[in-house]
Amino acid sequence: MNNKLYGNLIFELSKEGRRGYSLPKNRFGDYAVPQELCRKEDAQLPECDEMTVVRHYTNLSADNFGVDNGFYPLGSCTMKYNPKINEEMAALPQFQNLHPLQPAETTRGAEAVCTLLCRSLCELTGLHAFTLKPFAGAHGELTGLMIIRKYHESRGDEKRRLVIVPDSAHGTNPASAAVCGLEIVEVKSLSDGTVDVDALRELLVRVGSENIAAMMMTNPNTLGLFERQIPEIEKLIHEAGGLMYYDGANLNPMLGAARPGDMGFDVMHINLHKTFSTPHGGGGPGAGPVGVRKGLEEFFPEVSPYHGNFAVAMRAYAYILTLGRENIKMVGPLATLNANYIKEQLKDVYELPIDTLCKHEFVFDGLKDKSTGVTTMDVAKRLLDYGYHAPTIYFPLLFHESLMIEPTENESKDTIDGFIAVMRQIAEEAKTDPELVKSAPHHTPIGRVDDVLAAKHPVVTYKQLQSDEQH
Ligand SMILES: *Cc1c(COP(=O)(O)O)cnc(C)c1O
Repeated sequence: MNNKLYGNLIFELSKEGRRGYSLPKNRFGDYAVPQELCRKEDAQLPECDEMTVVRHYTNLSADNFGVDNGFYPLGSCTMKYNPKINEEMAALPQFQNLHPLQPAETTRGAEAVCTLLCRSLCELTGLHAFTLKPFAGAHGELTGLMIIRKYHESRGDEKRRLVIVPDSAHGTNPASAAVCGLEIVEVKSLSDGTVDVDALRELLVRVGSENIAAMMMTNPNTLGLFERQIPEIEKLIHEAGGLMYYDGANLNPMLGAARPGDMGFDVMHINLHKTFSTPHGGGGPGAGPVGVRKGLEEFFPEVSPYHGNFAVAMRAYAYILTLGRENIKMVGPLATLNANYIKEQLKDVYELPIDTLCKHEFVFDGLKDKSTGVTTMDVAKRLLDYGYHAPTIYFPLLFHESLMIEPTENESKDTIDGFIAVMRQIAEEAKTDPELVKSAPHHTPIGRVDDVLAAKHPVVTYKQLQSDEQH
């Protein structure tokens, strides 16, 4: 602990009678609040002077780590830089103060943004039409599956209820299929996490081709690898009468490299909040537009009012425009180059179970030297001491010590080299001073928290009683 007022809540800094505000003069006269709506006792609000309030919240905000503070190599959920110009565009009063029911002739600009964004997404994915309505990736999956279901029903092909999902898929895939009232059949992956085409062939025979509604694929898959068998898989599913669904949550490695529409996919979603900026740590906001090939747009369902999360669409469109047609083609190649560079620079000290070309991310299985007893958790904690956010750890479940790294296309070589140097330093420390790594972090406001206790007994409310007892 240092001398900042860590651990103090604003309530604990309260001193009776202190003030940090002055209310404006009442310009509206007195309106009596009905007695039954009045409190019986005073609200228990903190009483603090202005400087205490300012410092309290400023110090708290400084304890937060974000993409704007440092490198954030979290895998499986692209956390990239969000240019401030996008925030400014989304915050323009003409966009921010829109009311969904205002006259159409006053919303032409916003309508144009939606239309042009959809057009850009069509061009980037090779699909025919997009809907911006879904609020998140998972919501996009549900929307896409509703489209697929309606398509089959429109042809009187009601018995197609099975959705094939690879066992390595993001958990939202089977969940969305279940919410859509469809049944899930799992297809096995090979040891490199790509779909086992022979297993798929057997599965189609076993469950009956005539029952297949769709197959969902994530590409690059959960291990960051390109699914090289897509042409074969697409043929099998289409011959069976099913549709191909593309989980494009993390589309950045594909931009400028390949398009789902050209690979034979019929329906897809994109997480605008992962691929096209929008800060999304901590659960929102997001948008999961769904794209379809020609003929399926008539099945777009009403999954949200109006145009979904318009401000997220606005940021995405600003992002696409600032990159421009030529630069956006560099997104995929740079995301891929950065990930492969880190992988190659570290694979002599970290275990690389699948040693092949990756796309935007890859997975280590802990340190190569297992004799030190230093785990992936320890490495992740030690990284915090050096000012880096930890990569994704213990996911995917394929390996015991998974350490999943995604640098994104935005980072400079210097930043990436700095990260590589620190990762090597930690590997060295694991050998020479393992205790140092195992007891990390040492330079953060709090040390190692008890994850299990925090998850099972979270204390999220402040009890006035406790502080009264303390004082
Ligand atoms: C993030 C992610 C999702 C879910 O997206 P949300 O916006 O969190 O609902 C689905 N699939 C993959 C592959 C993802 O990475």
